[in-house]
Amino acid sequence: MLRATLSRSIGRAILRRQLSSSNASRPLGRAAKFVGGGIALGAGLGGGYYMLTPKPVLAKDDSEIEDVDALIIGGGIMGATVAVMLKLLQPKWKVKLVEQHDRVAQESTNEWHNAGTGHAALCEPNYTPLNKKTGEVEIDKAVATNQKFMISLAFWSWLVEMGILPDGTFIQPAPHILFVHDEAGRDWLRKRVEKLKKLPAFAATEYTEDYDKINSWVSLLCSGRPRDGGDPIACSRHPDGTEVNYGLLCRNLVQSLIELGGDVQLLSTVTALQQQPDKSWLVAVQKNDLTPTNQTVRARFVFAGAGGGSLRILQMAGIPEIAGYGGMPVSGKFLVCQKPEIIEKNRNKVYGRAAIGAPPMSVPHLDWRTIYGKDCIFFGPFAGFSPAVFKMSGTPLDWLSTFNFSNIFPMAAMALQNMDLVKYLVTEVFSTKEAQLAALRKFVPDAKPEDWTMVWAGQRIQIVKPDSKVGGKLEFGTEVLSSSDGTIVGLLGASPGASVSPHIAIEVLNKFDCGASNAFNWHVALSQWIPSYGRDINAEPGLYEQVMDKARKVLLHGKTSGYRSGFATANHLFDRMDADKDGVLTLDEIARYLTRHTSMQKEQIQTLVEAIDQDKSGDISREEFDKGFAKVVAGLVRRGSIAGKWEDDVQVPQKSA
Ligand SMILES: Cc1cc2nc3c(=O)[nH]c(=O)nc-3n(C[C@H](O)[C@H](O)[C@H](O)COP(=O)(O)OP(=O)(O)OC[C@H]3O[C@@H](n4cnc5c(N)ncnc54)[C@H](O)[C@@H]3O)c2cc1C
Repeated sequence: MLRATLSRSIGRAILRRQLSSSNASRPLGRAAKFVGGGIALGAGLGGGYYMLTPKPVLAKDDSEIEDVDALIIGGGIMGATVAVMLKLLQPKWKVKLVEQHDRVAQESTNEWHNAGTGHAALCEPNYTPLNKKTGEVEIDKAVATNQKFMISLAFWSWLVEMGILPDGTFIQPAPHILFVHDEAGRDWLRKRVEKLKKLPAFAATEYTEDYDKINSWVSLLCSGRPRDGGDPIACSRHPDGTEVNYGLLCRNLVQSLIELGGDVQLLSTVTALQQQPDKSWLVAVQKNDLTPTNQTVRARFVFAGAGGGSLRILQMAGIPEIAGYGGMPVSGKFLVCQKPEIIEKNRNKVYGRAAIGAPPMSVPHLDWRTIYGKDCIFFGPFAGFSPAVFKMSGTPLDWLSTFNFSNIFPMAAMALQNMDLVKYLVTEVFSTKEAQLAALRKFVPDAKPEDWTMVWAGQRIQIVKPDSKVGGKLEFGTEVLSSSDGTIVGLLGASPGASVSPHIAIEVLNKFDCGASNAFNWHVALSQWIPSYGRDINAEPGLYEQVMDKARKVLLHGKTSGYRSGFATANHLFDRMDADKDGVLTLDEIARYLTRHTSMQKEQIQTLVEAIDQDKSGDISREEFDKGFAKVVAGLVRRGSIAGKWEDDVQVPQKSA
């Protein structure tokens, strides 16, 4: 208690120093007064709300307290990854994960709430900005992000190989394409490719300005686009890109955590934290059941992987390190297309460049998605604004309650410095359907409004940080923040997020005090699981191919890939249809099954069987069924074509075959 009070005092002292040393005394003008007034009102409302809310009571009696080694708050991809990694590194530890919703992966991690890109910087323009002074394209961010994603690929491959994750169904191969449609864009893209191609991780990148080549890569980009006389277009393409279902990955990880002996508690919200003299944390967990009482958990280590809720949790913990931090909510919206004939024209992740003034996370992209065999295309994100920290629950008061005396000034200063962004967000929020369609038509010139539906994606809470020079700064990345004693760590921000979750998890574990005492053992284990751990993938010859080959074999194309699982499902279906178990399907067997389980008419079934029956024998063999099934189910068509090509082109290393 004393420590928490002390922490808060230190936090306030730090903030006072920031206020006096910064340009607080400079006249901010009318805009500042307006923004400041708005923020002060917000803080007042938020503070008032919390004053009126009954305070959670922490149990004092030991018999009412549940003891754990580590408490992970939040069942998103970050909480799940940290929990599994920790349980693997410290198998005897009691690791408990609590989630406020009735299932995990409901907020940003949900497959419908993000674009599912495996951010490896193969196509995202914001990682390679043009330095206006030198005219050079800067690639440091791209190289760093790529290294982090390779850690993800290696870790996920290892988890599948060890049987900790069931298979690679959560990840699919999807070439990553960068698309530009003006001369300046071409110039920038040429420079980008030229510079990156020298590195092993980017060596496979191709660049073209040729209409036909672009048409062969992504025919949707050329749909309705004149071959001659249109905008000057160009694309780069990297074949090793991926599409990831982070929702599925998160659920699989949480299942693994339970199998490894971890504890998962749903419908349970963390409402208060208080540090004890022995440095452990008492955490009030409000069970969303019929009792009004809180459960109390005592944890030696706490990880706040609560997405938009992490800021509030660290504030509740009262650690001085969080003083001055605020959060700026930015919602995302996607146009979704489910029409098979359109989806067939794009099996890639296609990224464009952001509009001037737009935040980096709003670069437009046309994403092929596959969500449980249902293929679709997302286009966006369009920015939206909802003054909330969660998409699936809560009220604006959750956000307002994060305002306090320490962050009002940084928030106001940030708002004033980012008028471009504010203008951009306001324009986006009020943008018409015509404007949204116009943005889409830069990519798909003949897009029709009736083929696209707008859906709300996840809620991002961007970090606002105190800054001694400018008062407050808006950050678009992620930040791992910890108490000085290494007992509580939280993750703020949202990008590149899920893609680099294993890298962030390692950072989180290293921040824990126990990380220092276990450093040697943990480093040994991590380097056995992750070949590129602590090494430079571009400096060591063969390292990139080693990691990528394993990912190809285990996650993307081999026996444990989603592609193979798709065929396993097809085989299972074959067995169910094959009533007399003679290894071939007759028209009668297929018709009987399909009329029982679908609304297909006899003529449709007849046509389907004729299409599948390639040797025209009248019966369908297992091989014909696999191929035919792949033709009928759109997702398998793509996986079949890409995986087939890979098997023809690339020699699978013998020892790993
Ligand atoms: C529009 C959009 C597009 C994106 N596209 C991509 C992409 O293509 N690729 C990519 O890698 N990333 C992408 N991201 C980012 C990615 O989705 C996030 O970085 C990632 O999902 C964050 O995971 P998380 O576990 O930190 O948070 P979340 O998934 O938000 O999980 C936090 C969990 O904590 C729970 N929680 C919160 N407070 C409490 C509490 N007090 N008690 C108990 N539980 C609590 C919440 O209910 C939630 O389940 C995108 C994000 C958005 C919004």
